[in-house]
Amino acid sequence: MTATTTTSSSTNTTAADRTSVEVRLEDLRRTYGTVHALDGLSITLAPGELVALLGPSGCGKTTALRILAGLDEPTSGRVVVGGRDLTSVPANKRDMGMVFQAYSLFPHLTSRANVEFGLKLRGVSAAKRRTRALEMLELVGLAVHAERYASQLSGGQQQRVALARALAFQPSVLLLDEPLSALDAKVRAQLRDEIRRVQLEVGTTTLFVTHDQDEALAMADRVGVMNAGRLEQLDAPQVLYAAPRSAFVADFVGLMNRVPAEVADGQVTVLGARLPTLEGSVTSGRGLALIRPEQLVLTPGDGSARVVSVSFQGPISRATVRTADGTELVTQLSGSAGARLVEGTPVEVSVDAAGLLVAAS
Ligand code: ADP
Ligand code: MG
Repeated sequence: MTATTTTSSSTNTTAADRTSVEVRLEDLRRTYGTVHALDGLSITLAPGELVALLGPSGCGKTTALRILAGLDEPTSGRVVVGGRDLTSVPANKRDMGMVFQAYSLFPHLTSRANVEFGLKLRGVSAAKRRTRALEMLELVGLAVHAERYASQLSGGQQQRVALARALAFQPSVLLLDEPLSALDAKVRAQLRDEIRRVQLEVGTTTLFVTHDQDEALAMADRVGVMNAGRLEQLDAPQVLYAAPRSAFVADFVGLMNRVPAEVADGQVTVLGARLPTLEGSVTSGRGLALIRPEQLVLTPGDGSARVVSVSFQGPISRATVRTADGTELVTQLSGSAGARLVEGTPVEVSVDAAGLLVAAS
């Protein structure tokens, strides 16, 4: 969960130098008029942990982060950091570094001056600020651009500087609100790995907010899926993916087929297979089994299902098939296997899964 594997020789911000803190959000509620932005959110981040809050727009992610930062006050509930109740402590006394979407740097200042800014506010001497800023820029791989103006940097580079700035004063908590969402896909993927590497290196307890499931799964120790101001499930990425505990989580984390099924004695019968049901499933009778594309196996031949369409996506292909009873299923194959299927090809469809969540139909 917490881990510090590498220690950069050029920086003194490594986890070994500092004690990471536990962060607790306790039963947070926040109403705006009749809107319940947060409806009883409780979550504990272990020292050094990176937790991602994942959920659709409007589910309360930013509100949670702003309350932790002290930029907004909860209607009720507490914020406890390192055992200390910070609920009524102002933002500038909370010792938290923040990175938002984008374009938060001063464009007319250099990278270095941007990173030094927060240190200056904290009364750090000019010489120390300079050393520190250069160390931080090196940590995020931007030392070569230290004297460039922010306005001359790409979006991805600007976000690296913003990260360096957020970490420069060694905050006890790092807060990231959709820091990658303004970037294009390739830069986004690079930068998410980079942010995670830096976070592990400095060991700062981090709350990361995103609506992008790939980002959350790739970066976080644990992912909390939010729905309407509450946490639906908080688990390690692998657990969340393999064993979603509600249809909402299953739908939000990965593409899901909903297939008519029959449940009895903790087993589900679906597409000719009998498999254990996962926790949270209906306990008996008819339901809809939630099945991921990669859990469906297609065998071309004389099966009763037919291929409806195939879309080539590079390393994989997605084939849509229709079963004899008219259910349409999205399946996933290797790119080359997909190339052998055409519209109308008869296929046998089977399920390969350790267990399935079955929702009420
Ligand atoms: P997210 O970041 O998950 O998209 P937010 O936390 O920004 O969601 O918003 C949660 C809900 O609270 C939304 O319905 C939003 O419209 C509402 N909300 C957020 N901030 C305010 C505000 N300052 N005034 C009124 N409503 C707000
Ligand atoms: Mg938001």
